[in-house]
Amino acid sequence: MNPAEWLHRTAHARPADPAIYCGEALVCDYAGFDRQAREIAGGLQARGLVVGDRVAVFLPNRVDYLPLLFGIWAMGGVAVPVNAKLHPREVAWIVENAGARLVVAQDPEALPNAGVSVPVIASVADLQGAPQDAPVAMAARDPAWIFYTSGTTGRPKGAVLTAGNLMAMSLSYLADVDEVRPEDAALYAAPLSHGAGLYALVHVLKGARHVVPESGGFDPAEIFALAAHHRNISMFAAPTMVKRMTAVAKAGGSRGAGVKTIVYGGGPMYVADIKEALALFGPVFVQIYGQGEAPMTITALSRGDIADTAHPDWDARLGSVGRAHSVAEVAVVDEAGTPLLPGEVGEIVVRGAAVMQGYLGNPEANAKALRGGWLWTGDMGRLSPEGYLTLHDRAKDLVVSGGSNIYPREVEEALLEHPRVAEVSVVGAPDPEWGEVVVAFVVCDGAVHEAELDAACAARIARFKTPKRYVFVNELPKNNYGKVLKTELRARLAAR
Ligand code: AMP
Repeated sequence: MNPAEWLHRTAHARPADPAIYCGEALVCDYAGFDRQAREIAGGLQARGLVVGDRVAVFLPNRVDYLPLLFGIWAMGGVAVPVNAKLHPREVAWIVENAGARLVVAQDPEALPNAGVSVPVIASVADLQGAPQDAPVAMAARDPAWIFYTSGTTGRPKGAVLTAGNLMAMSLSYLADVDEVRPEDAALYAAPLSHGAGLYALVHVLKGARHVVPESGGFDPAEIFALAAHHRNISMFAAPTMVKRMTAVAKAGGSRGAGVKTIVYGGGPMYVADIKEALALFGPVFVQIYGQGEAPMTITALSRGDIADTAHPDWDARLGSVGRAHSVAEVAVVDEAGTPLLPGEVGEIVVRGAAVMQGYLGNPEANAKALRGGWLWTGDMGRLSPEGYLTLHDRAKDLVVSGGSNIYPREVEEALLEHPRVAEVSVVGAPDPEWGEVVVAFVVCDGAVHEAELDAACAARIARFKTPKRYVFVNELPKNNYGKVLKTELRARLAAR
């Protein structure tokens, strides 16, 4: 089924119900939301786009984001949401890799210079055409969303999510995360290009309200004000966002009135942090563990589990990512794929209706990630006898900073572009505010200023990936095969 069909139905059933808000101001009701999506679908067709064509969405959170997504689907297209913080050159690579025929961007001028050769438009208004009557038919196997993850090779990979994947993800939200009612409101404080946008679908299905903060981003004071105004707010937040909300609420004497649900995930949540947040905001939290390849849908730690303070396993549960989603089978296996016993650490594998079809045009990555009918997540973990999954260190050397994933290789490649950088190795250092920060160990030929290294990054990668610290060394520790020993670098940072 076409996800836009959900919008179309809700609009038929409750046309005058409020749909999209900018801050406190109502932008449109469900009839208006649906009409705008159908007009965008008509506009895309008028530009010559056909079923299966891909449209890249390089936008920060805006009120036209959701109409655009549903408009792309209504005409049978495939959305390629791109993190708004990426560098234009990174976007250019994704646009090319995805074979996108059109890009909608906040700042369209920057993209052609960075190598984007397909049309780039700034305003969804440019897509307004004669409204399409109804969404075209889509099969469960038809691609609907290409989710670009960072790649360990330094290049992002496009996880192809089908209409069936999106629906399974949405329905399991209702089964395992939270109920959704028309009087609820989804607040988009995290990027719509990621989990927050995926969660929009179930809120459309149930005819809930959608609130885009005026700031377009994450501002705890703004969130508290909007929650108090709209009531029954649900939102997705990275653990670092939860931590900042706790700090701001404590300082300002707020207890998050109007917040119904905060779904957190995407990176590790420290037990002390969730306890503090729970004490302040009450039982509003649900945790999810997922990845672009199995979006938001591997495990969930329920509201009841998080709030069950009297349970003897409470601490262990808070330190876990919960139990398998209804639509997911989860196992911990050894390298051969043999399931391990409870308590034993191995790689986490998952299969089920929400798992991606595969990476777009990347047979090597597919051969690695999709084996024996399972998605190999690259995450290490262990299961308890009751089925609670606890993540261990990551198999990949991913750095998770402020909820964003950063692959060291990408940063290393940018730094190595500097002519006097001989060798470099990037690791994450624990940080109380960001979870982790990027630290680069650099071997230079001659004197190099930190500002030059910052500039090398600024020319190639997003700002949030730029190292927060540089450590200049004469050589990097290596093993017998010449492979840099990142564990030793991390140990050095820990010893400081
Ligand atoms: P992405 O594909 O960008 O969503 O990143 C997915 C990765 O983030 C996973 O493979 C995990 O390493 C990490 N991650 C996601 N959810 C959690 C969680 N609840 N706790 C700890 N790490 C998580």
